[in-house]
Amino acid sequence: MSGEKRIYSFEFFPPKTVEGIAKLRDARKQLAQLDPKFFSVTFGAGGSTRDRTLETVLEIKADGLAAAPHISCISSTREEIREVLLQYKNHGFRHIVALRGDLPSGEASTSELRYAAELVEFIREETGDWFEIEVAAYPEIHPEATSARADLANFKRKVDAGADAAITQYFYNADAYFRFMEECDSMGITIPIYPGIMPIYNHAQLARFSAMCGAEIPRWLTLRLKDFGDDIASVRALGLDVVTELCDRLLTGGAPGLHFYTLNQAGAVSTIWQRLGI
Ligand code: FAD
Repeated sequence: MSGEKRIYSFEFFPPKTVEGIAKLRDARKQLAQLDPKFFSVTFGAGGSTRDRTLETVLEIKADGLAAAPHISCISSTREEIREVLLQYKNHGFRHIVALRGDLPSGEASTSELRYAAELVEFIREETGDWFEIEVAAYPEIHPEATSARADLANFKRKVDAGADAAITQYFYNADAYFRFMEECDSMGITIPIYPGIMPIYNHAQLARFSAMCGAEIPRWLTLRLKDFGDDIASVRALGLDVVTELCDRLLTGGAPGLHFYTLNQAGAVSTIWQRLGI
């Protein structure tokens, strides 16, 4: 690994219940000790979590920690997005994760901004350089992309529109990330691209997420996880080994840092962190 400082960040979703809020506070306290650059908080498509995303980032900020709210453009009007941006700006947030978002199936889109590249352009038009903007990247190709090349061209549009950095969809195949980095390099894309890391908490849940977002779980891993059935301890033990090895390969191979999808839990991330000796 080079001597350059790596950047780490942790993602939460806004909790819905009193228990969820308490659980997230505990997780945040534990993860804050690892001194990440920021905690990001997801945003439901169409603004469905708007208030809870704001409450969650405000609570993180009140603890003296850096927070980056996500924002999505699907099913929102320009005016609604403008309001959300102003709200974050007025609260002093300087960092945002800009996404298109996904609609719950069956819902019609009323989006004025159709793609994340248009959202990034809009954020720059409305707020200039106020926000540091992160966007999503897909080393294993976004499931709706018509081709790998078209998806890469879209990623470049987001960068050209003003993204400062990117976080990838999760993956378990480090080569997909390294290949993607080579392709970005050949397109003249130089922004940092942080691998998104999904610890393995539960096989059925992971299989469901992965089917939706196009992340590939290697066949050998699926079969081994299936063998464990309801034996959650063994699923997690194998998951920790596999994900720690993946992170190690990524960092050794030059990844500029890591972004962890924590699912509001601190345990797996803390163990991976210790094993990596970060
Ligand atoms: P885009 O970059 O707009 O791409 C979407 C699709 O459209 C791609 O297939 C792309 O190739 C294609 N495309 C883009 N431009 C064009 C064009 N001009 N013509 C034709 N096709 C085009 N979702 C949420 O709802 N809330 C969140 O908080 C959230 N956080 C996320 C965080 C990270 C780090 C990641 C990786 C994903 C997150 N998502 C979130 C999921 C994300 O919204 C979905 O993956 C969504 O399907 C695509 O979002 P995007 O910003 O990558 O979209």
